[in-house]
Amino acid sequence: MTECIGYAAKSASSLLGPFRFERRDAGDKDVRIEIAFCGICHSDLHMARNEWTNTPTTYPLVPGHEIAGRVIAVGKRVRKFKVGDLAGVGCLVDSCRRCENCRKKLDQFCRLSPTFTYNSVGKDGKPTYGGYSSHIVVDEDFALKIAPGLPLDRVAPLLCAGITTYSPLKRFGAGKGSRVGVLGLGGLGHMAVKIAAAMGAEVTVLSGSKSKAADAKRLGAHEFALTTDEPACQRLAGRFDLIVDTVSAKHGLDFFLGMLGIDGTLALVGVSPKPLEFSAFSIIGGRRRLAGSLIGGLAETQEMLDFCAKKKILADVETIGVRDINAAYERLIKGDVRFRFSIDLKTLRS
Ligand code: NAP
Ligand code: ZN
Ligand code: ZN
Repeated sequence: MTECIGYAAKSASSLLGPFRFERRDAGDKDVRIEIAFCGICHSDLHMARNEWTNTPTTYPLVPGHEIAGRVIAVGKRVRKFKVGDLAGVGCLVDSCRRCENCRKKLDQFCRLSPTFTYNSVGKDGKPTYGGYSSHIVVDEDFALKIAPGLPLDRVAPLLCAGITTYSPLKRFGAGKGSRVGVLGLGGLGHMAVKIAAAMGAEVTVLSGSKSKAADAKRLGAHEFALTTDEPACQRLAGRFDLIVDTVSAKHGLDFFLGMLGIDGTLALVGVSPKPLEFSAFSIIGGRRRLAGSLIGGLAETQEMLDFCAKKKILADVETIGVRDINAAYERLIKGDVRFRFSIDLKTLRS
């Protein structure tokens, strides 16, 4: 076992603070990664504050599943990495590899033992701890290759925000000739805009924040619509083939379902702690679909990283030190970040 330092929440109401724990030594198929940067996903905050009743939080919780760093040790059967390589870890650190879903490369829906990067139990029976920490040990099959030379602070958020938006955009047909709405311009939303635009779609940002209009265009959106301006939004009725809904809190769906054309899809990726409501009329008229999407499998995550490297897509980040995490959580709730906090883990040691 090797000692690791991290930042943890000790309860739903406590601030995050320094926490020492142990990680396993690298086994034959494991890589040990020194973490350079970890993005702050809104899921970290939901989980640290135990906001999701159907996935209760076990404390202490070390959040963080947007991990980018450098390999510092490899087991003797590791083939994909060597010491010194860049590597990433997202939301999953293990799965059964045998069930129907794992065999279809949908490891995120593993039926027997999906193991998430934090708030799960690993194969060793110990709690998993996330990326707000100095290093992580993971089976090489659950580590992603990052192209050399990329800035790790800006790559880290791709490991969750990138794949969570890439997957539904691809599945539900974003591309040349399609019209895509991105609802909520936060960490996930800004990645959705960049990726959808790179796929060739015509992108409209649907945001409650007027101040984000100029950013939306800079990120690649063709249009910006202020969702609080209902009359202006009326012209968007029946407009979109796909809306990716990234909103992190309760909101009505009818208004946005009405913006879909025939056979249009609203893909929900945001996870409101409170149940969402919609009227049956909003989907039966127009034969619309309400869909969900959860991150992506490991193979698709690598595909997304390669796509982003090719298209030169990186997250827009504000880099912070570990001591800024609690203040960053407060700012995240207010939507006061352009567009992802990226924690510099060197600051754990200073
Ligand atoms: P974020 O950076 O906080 O962005 C969320 C955005 O939603 C905000 O920037 C804001 O955009 C909008 N918003 C926030 N509160 C709102 C409210 N009360 N009413 C209307 N709009 C509101 O969060 P994130 O990291 O992108 O994550 C978004 C959600 O996705 C979270 O619930 C997270 O847990 C979930 N998530 C899901 C998956 C998955 O696999 N499905 C993966 C990662 C994250 P505007 O200012 O533009 O309105
Ligand atoms: Zn996330
Ligand atoms: Zn499985």
